[in-house]
Amino acid sequence: MTPESYIEQARAAKRTALDESAGKQLLAAYGIAVPKSVVVRGPEDVAAAFKDLKAPVVVKVVSPDILHKSDAGGVKVNLKSAAEVEAALRAMAAAPQIKAAKVEGYLIEEMAPAGQEIVVGGLRDPEFGPLIMVGLGGIFVEVLADVSFRICPITRVDAHEMLSELKGAAILKGARGRKPASLDAIVDVLMKVGGEKGLLMRHADDIKEADVNPLIVSESGAVAVDARFILS
Ligand code: ADP
Ligand code: MG
Repeated sequence: MTPESYIEQARAAKRTALDESAGKQLLAAYGIAVPKSVVVRGPEDVAAAFKDLKAPVVVKVVSPDILHKSDAGGVKVNLKSAAEVEAALRAMAAAPQIKAAKVEGYLIEEMAPAGQEIVVGGLRDPEFGPLIMVGLGGIFVEVLADVSFRICPITRVDAHEMLSELKGAAILKGARGRKPASLDAIVDVLMKVGGEKGLLMRHADDIKEADVNPLIVSESGAVAVDARFILS
């Protein structure tokens, strides 16, 4: 499939956003690492799906009605057997917000190697076109709004500057006993998203908003474990 086909499929289905699985396939088409995953319809499909994955795995609800899966009880990490996945999926299906939503399936995916969580985003400015954003994950983005923006396309120098501008930049280098995160791996992802031949430039007319939250960055690489693309 070409990168365009994920967007075309979503439009054909009258969707205003790509689901998580399609979003990750779009990222993968640009060379960004995503977890190996399978979408199942329900508990009866878990055993077969689990065989193709390396434990531990994560289960997530797939629903166009649920934007923040964790808040709805729709994410369970670190599951080590098919039985644990099945139990997690049943418990999820019974959560009030999920019961009330249109559920299209459940995504089962491998855990990313441990690392620091960062956020990479994109949006389309009516005047300037695609913008790219990077920030540190969790409270750094949500409470401290420690993010930096650039107009696309960016160069590798821009990408490095975006990271050094963050107030929490020292954290990436391994402050306070944390393992350092690979800056090169983050820069690579920023280029694949916001560079001249990157995803945001190439799909500038289709993508209104992009959100990779989080990208999990270890000492040696980066994996996009959540992806949301809103179509124009
Ligand atoms: P949402 O943002 O909709 O609540 P996410 O898909 O971002 O759901 O998952 C919530 C959190 O679970 C992530 O921020 C991350 O900490 C963890 N997580 C999700 N998927 C993985 C994965 N494949 N590997 C490791 N951790 C994961
Ligand atoms: Mg997320």
